[in-house]
Amino acid sequence: MADVILSLSQVNKTYVTRKNGRNRNVWAVRNVSFDLKRQHIVALVGESGSGKSTIAKLITGVERSDAKSGSILFEQKPLAEWRRHMREYRRHVQMVFQDPYAALNPLNPVNYAVGRPLTNYKKLRGQAREQEIEQILQQVHLTPVREFANKLPFELSGGQLQRVVIARALASSPKLIVADEPVSMLDVSIRAEVIGLIDELRTQAGVSFLYITHDLISARLLADEIVVLYRGTVVESGDAKTVVREALHPYTQLLLQAIPNPWAPEQDENFDMSLLERTGDDTGCVFRSRCPHAMEACAKTAPTLQPHGEKQQVACLLYSAESREPVNS
Ligand code: SF4
Repeated sequence: MADVILSLSQVNKTYVTRKNGRNRNVWAVRNVSFDLKRQHIVALVGESGSGKSTIAKLITGVERSDAKSGSILFEQKPLAEWRRHMREYRRHVQMVFQDPYAALNPLNPVNYAVGRPLTNYKKLRGQAREQEIEQILQQVHLTPVREFANKLPFELSGGQLQRVVIARALASSPKLIVADEPVSMLDVSIRAEVIGLIDELRTQAGVSFLYITHDLISARLLADEIVVLYRGTVVESGDAKTVVREALHPYTQLLLQAIPNPWAPEQDENFDMSLLERTGDDTGCVFRSRCPHAMEACAKTAPTLQPHGEKQQVACLLYSAESREPVNS
């Protein structure tokens, strides 16, 4: 599939922890599969500990998935093969981190941060390098560019810093940017601007994005597809608008109910936040101990992701394979 730039198939990642003198395997990512099409945005949505940042590390090559556990393909080539050409891979796959304050060296001006990848990956120097820096700063709307090029990080606002981080990622002309909670540390007033910039770069620079977030609403605004993760497992995925408008999985529904809505105070008062506390074991459905619809069968069977309609997939026993309708609602 030439239009798919990134494909994850049955990817697993476990960590070994030690408790009471015994080693224990803990699942961080379990049988995760999804595709990211060229010039598309896929949002990985889940709360802290859902495995989204681990998936980002696996895709960027910072961590390795479990041996014999499925595959990660970038441009139809397995990541294992890319590992022999990691420099080239990093040029194509860039990362934008959550904290722009920590991502930049406080002693280096903007033109150094953006210019370094131009020297490393494109061998640009002198006038050509300066011109390219200006063009990239223009692209991320840091204008007037000459003024911003010489500023140090402490002279910039959080939103401007995140634009510099995005500019640095763009400098190598990547095909894919993995953006890990890129707006969560920014003031609410400037989040929309950075989200708008990511959307613009997808359209104008042709970059594909994996947008990692805990926020379903920004995912709905920005992404083409949403993948909802719970404890390392994909519980629902599909067309972004459909997943938010017609959420099927009880966990997705709870995430939507947890969004503060100033126009619906009754909904917030009625929402039981204890449902979002993590408890329970690993038998059966991963969401069983928190699910308001849990049935006896949920303790015995782990549901797998199944198509529901044309635009959605859900992993929940409420939806039978035959009828695709809830059997208990
Ligand atoms: Fe809830 Fe059962 Fe569906 Fe899991 S399979 S989400 S426990 S109803």
